[in-house]
Amino acid sequence: MTKRKPPVEKNETIDVVFEDLTHEFSGVAKVEGYPIFVPKALPGEKATIKITKVNKNFAFGRLMEIHEVSPERQEVVSEDFAQFGGCQLQHMTYEGQLKAKHEQVKNAITRIGNIKDTVIHPVIGMENPWHYRNKMQVPVGMKDGKFIAGFYRERSHEIVDMNTSLIQSEDINEVFQAVKELCIRFHIQPYNEEKHNGVLRHIMLRSGQNTGEVMICFITKTKKLPNEEMLVQEITKRFPNVKSITHNVNSKRTNVIFGEETRVIHGSEYIHDTIGDIKFAISTRSFYQVNPTQTKVLYDKALEYAQLTGEETVMDAYCGIGTITLFLAQKAKKVYGVEIVPEAIDDAIRNVALNGITNVEFAVGEAEKVIPAWYEEDIKADTLVVDPPRKGCDEALLKTIIDMKPKRVVYVSCNPATLARDLRILEDGGYKTEQIQPVDMFPHTTHVECVVELTLR
Ligand code: SAH
Repeated sequence: MTKRKPPVEKNETIDVVFEDLTHEFSGVAKVEGYPIFVPKALPGEKATIKITKVNKNFAFGRLMEIHEVSPERQEVVSEDFAQFGGCQLQHMTYEGQLKAKHEQVKNAITRIGNIKDTVIHPVIGMENPWHYRNKMQVPVGMKDGKFIAGFYRERSHEIVDMNTSLIQSEDINEVFQAVKELCIRFHIQPYNEEKHNGVLRHIMLRSGQNTGEVMICFITKTKKLPNEEMLVQEITKRFPNVKSITHNVNSKRTNVIFGEETRVIHGSEYIHDTIGDIKFAISTRSFYQVNPTQTKVLYDKALEYAQLTGEETVMDAYCGIGTITLFLAQKAKKVYGVEIVPEAIDDAIRNVALNGITNVEFAVGEAEKVIPAWYEEDIKADTLVVDPPRKGCDEALLKTIIDMKPKRVVYVSCNPATLARDLRILEDGGYKTEQIQPVDMFPHTTHVECVVELTLR
């Protein structure tokens, strides 16, 4: 084999045409077949770039000047948000983002999964893709003697101050600004990470989109939250919808946000929200989907693909606090949910009671151990739903699915690459990938969620 020298050098300035996007949405241009990855460049664009790093098989570059601008490019609303605030795709129109996400799913399914005969629907986007998040978690600090709260600069612990967020819901933005002002007024000292002194480390806010209830949690290094009564009084006077204020103590030197202890200092331990007809109680530490509008879209699709008649035994693997489980229970004979985090199952059981549902059962454990054990006991699923974390399903679970032969499998995925890998295994085990519905749960970020319908051949 002949060793080829890369055709570009570090710091060189060259003109290129972009052909494609990487899975991280950087532009890809080629020089003599050698790929160069350039953040924020778009397919079709002609530009001058500067080479920033050269590797054997690829290089990185930086945009210097764009000569032919893609119709999918748009003005960035906020550079800070583009860089650190979770809006990396702001330079693309929303239409362009959805198209690019579709392309990304298609690439993974055809290239990694080698599945060519399935339907990949256009990505379901949001009518208004801003202010969609129901949860905010901000670090607090001091800059030039001023109290600041916002987000970390990329790969650093420097805090960028923020007043309102482009992606948080308006009610959270409003309460956040007031809380910030009140912390200053009541002299609550920010925590200093370097010196490991001071008081307030993080502020967490969460809202129920359909109930309007808001939760605030103050996370401090100290056992005490100074001027607590005044703070609570002012907040609740201004915002009667704040139904839960908690205080969490984290006195360790750590990047982990929460400490062990949480106590309620106003109202309830929970706020509520609904998705469709199901009501959820959400506590400070509970996991809950952050985009409620699109969560409904996603779960409705999962339910549609499950095609339940009321006669089925269903298993919901990686069930979290039982959100999908309860959705399925409305239409099934019996649903079994399994999840590895015990606290999530505590929440799930509470949510079952809250909704008066009687046909579900939960187990704490690894899906890849619990489901094979159920199968051993002759508990079999007619329909199986999986919603694994980014790394996808464990092979042992996929093997059990193939042995158990549920008629339908609904795969909810937050990572097209591991989804494609797992679909290949299921296809080889006798399943057909009928259709894939991508849903945009996180506009302006590089993430895309998919719901997949599989049937036994
Ligand atoms: N279906 C839920 C949660 C999906 S997130 C919802 O829609 O809200 C994925 C979940 O899988 C997390 O709750 C995580 O704790 C859980 N998990 C991770 N590894 C697991 C495993 N091996 N077995 C069971 N659950 C697991």
